[in-house]
Amino acid sequence: MPETLRNLIDGRWTEPPPSKTIESVNPARASDVLARAPRSSAAEVDAAVLAARRAFDGWRLTPAPRRGEVLFRAGELLARRKEELGGLVTREMGKVLKEGLGDVQEAVDMAFYMAGEGRRLSGETVPSELPDKDAKSVRVPVGVCALITPWNFPVAIPAWKIFPALVCGNTVVFKPSSLTPACATRLVEVLVEAGLPPGVLNMVHGTGAETGNALVSHPGIDAVSFTGSCDTGEGIEQACGALHRSVSTEMGGKNAIIVMDDADLDLAVEGAVWGGFGTSGQRCTAASRVVVHERVREAFVDKLVGRAKTLRLGDGLDYGTDVGPVVSQEQMNKVLDYIEIGKKEGAKLLCGGQRAMKGPLAEGWFVEPTVFSDVDPNMRIAREEIFGPVVAVIRARDLAHAVEIVNGTKYGLSSAIYTRDVNNSAIAERDLDTGLVYINASTIGAEIQLPFGGTKGSGSGPREAGGRGGALDFFTKWKVIYRDFSGRLQKAQIDRG
Ligand code: NAD
Repeated sequence: MPETLRNLIDGRWTEPPPSKTIESVNPARASDVLARAPRSSAAEVDAAVLAARRAFDGWRLTPAPRRGEVLFRAGELLARRKEELGGLVTREMGKVLKEGLGDVQEAVDMAFYMAGEGRRLSGETVPSELPDKDAKSVRVPVGVCALITPWNFPVAIPAWKIFPALVCGNTVVFKPSSLTPACATRLVEVLVEAGLPPGVLNMVHGTGAETGNALVSHPGIDAVSFTGSCDTGEGIEQACGALHRSVSTEMGGKNAIIVMDDADLDLAVEGAVWGGFGTSGQRCTAASRVVVHERVREAFVDKLVGRAKTLRLGDGLDYGTDVGPVVSQEQMNKVLDYIEIGKKEGAKLLCGGQRAMKGPLAEGWFVEPTVFSDVDPNMRIAREEIFGPVVAVIRARDLAHAVEIVNGTKYGLSSAIYTRDVNNSAIAERDLDTGLVYINASTIGAEIQLPFGGTKGSGSGPREAGGRGGALDFFTKWKVIYRDFSGRLQKAQIDRG
């Protein structure tokens, strides 16, 4: 029996009218309906925003270390429920269980990291140029934040947004992806159990067009943090620009691995397999291009295809599955369309290329791990985000050519180089125009204590996660305070005569 999910508004779990629901379906077995979630209208969004607005002063004035303690308790609860939640991630969006557990672990890490920020959140104290005067800057919360998330990290990405927003003293209206409402619900339940007061965190389920749109354009929202596709993100950026509302977008990628002629080829193949086919290629940082030095291209391609053919497709909950399904029938059709486009463009299909239908696989949305070679950098499969298990191998003459190819798309999220030459690695580090650069590691595997995000079309606004330039810069604004205790009128620069 599918679970009936509810919105959380002002501390109350509210049920939708039965006619207005969205089904959450297991992509490995489409007949397995996990849950039905509300398809919230503008009225529910309005109630959630008003609740967040009402809760704002109480939460803003709660000492930041106390706010951090709620996150710490949430981290402990998530760690305790890791197996259960990891399994739900797999069942609801398809990634294999060890990745589902990793999704939850990222949320645990972020909870503990941001809990610690409750005791930092530091500003600056500097000397004043006038006697008997203090000068300092402090971080203050932005207000009511709209947090809009995708399905591919259904616990981690919401945690990446909700935890820093809360520790900074903001209140939140969270709209999760309509494909993963059950994972979102478990995360929110944990925060409620950890002691969050009513109204501080509200959740409205629903579609992007109806619920998401109503949230972004609601006059009671102060900031919007969005992760998802470029098309949606660009629309949100424009809407927020017109409303003078601060916005942070984390969007797509066309990430690439460079393999130099001095690389450890076996290691590079493992990186390409993990980056290209892990999470069925549905990571924003997935390695969908491999740019290989022409001297080792043939040897590399042979090894890559050999490994791709050994990968076992299946239900991510089954022991021994390497690659799970893609998230939906729509996503599967999009990936299969791109494979046809690649063939028509003249790329050479070396393995995969079809929907996998053998036995129980026919019940879900599976695409065979696919490798194209002889890909020209101008082909659509080399420029556009496919978001599926498809890797395009591109030939490069030398390092400068490889860097030019990697930098030659509208995206700039992640890149990697495999090389044993220290000079090559230094040049790549300097010249690759992406927010993340990996040396002798794949394009995926970001850690939460450093800022996460990309250049160019991969996103805008402050980055996510920890470290200087990370999420605290989005979820707070600076206030500068001068306190004059001289008892007389002082005029700064004018007093100098
Ligand atoms: P999507 O853009 O379809 O949806 C993302 C979220 O936006 C969902 O909650 C959706 O309901 C909502 N939405 C859709 N239209 C909206 C609108 N008009 N107004 C407000 N909200 C709206 O993306 P997706 O398919 O869920 O996720 C896949 C995409 O996410 C890929 O492009 C991937 O690269 C990107 N992604 C990026 C990062 C990153 O950090 N850079 C991380 C993960 C995923």
